[in-house]
Amino acid sequence: QPGDLTLHFERLMRETRRLIARSDRAEREMNALNQQLQTLSQQLEYRATHDALTGMLNRGAVIDQAGQALRQRGGAMIVLDIDHFKRINDEFGHPAGDRVIQAIARCLQELVQAPAIVGRVGGEEFTVLLPTLARDEALAMTERLRLRIAREKTGTAPVTASFGLSLNLPGTDFELAYGLADAALYRAKRAGRNQVVLAD
Ligand code: GH3
Ligand code: MG
Ligand code: MG
Repeated sequence: QPGDLTLHFERLMRETRRLIARSDRAEREMNALNQQLQTLSQQLEYRATHDALTGMLNRGAVIDQAGQALRQRGGAMIVLDIDHFKRINDEFGHPAGDRVIQAIARCLQELVQAPAIVGRVGGEEFTVLLPTLARDEALAMTERLRLRIAREKTGTAPVTASFGLSLNLPGTDFELAYGLADAALYRAKRAGRNQVVLAD
């Protein structure tokens, strides 16, 4: 009967529309899940490369990024360490010490702009890589950082930092550049702190 065929055809059409709607819904759900997955993996990537206290690049990320920049372009490496930081913790407590670290991080981020690299490489120790090989320019910038930190109101006692600086040709590896700056930092501490020493 032609009538039966028409009914059959309509039933099949309804079924087809239902399946299409279902697969559209499944596709939308899959897109939403994909979006969430992408956000999550960006968050994971951020956490793996940033320090939780300051939001700066963490040690591993600094070694990666500064290492690559040094190999390609060289640069001036600064290592700085807060002076007598133990006293701040002892006198004002660990949470106040944390706030000092955050304040110092903000000072550095305020003055250091990309393509320079800045990060927290230890408890109260930071590294900056400046994209310059010019001695006077690097010294001037390091001195600006030192003065900026020394006049920061941290809510505790006045805080200063000591700085070591090394100038590195393209192709230098991170360990070498860091070692030279760190040795200079040690000399800055020995010479009375709150000063910049250039590696020889
Ligand atoms: P110096 O001038 O020689 O650097 O003296 P210092 O007291 O700063 O020396 P040292 O590097 O030995 O001490 C660093 C102290 O920083 C020890 C540790 O308790 C403290 N510290 C390290 N990480 C953190 C942190 O995340 N938060 C706080 N509040 N303190 C930290
Ligand atoms: Mg230290
Ligand atoms: Mg210190």
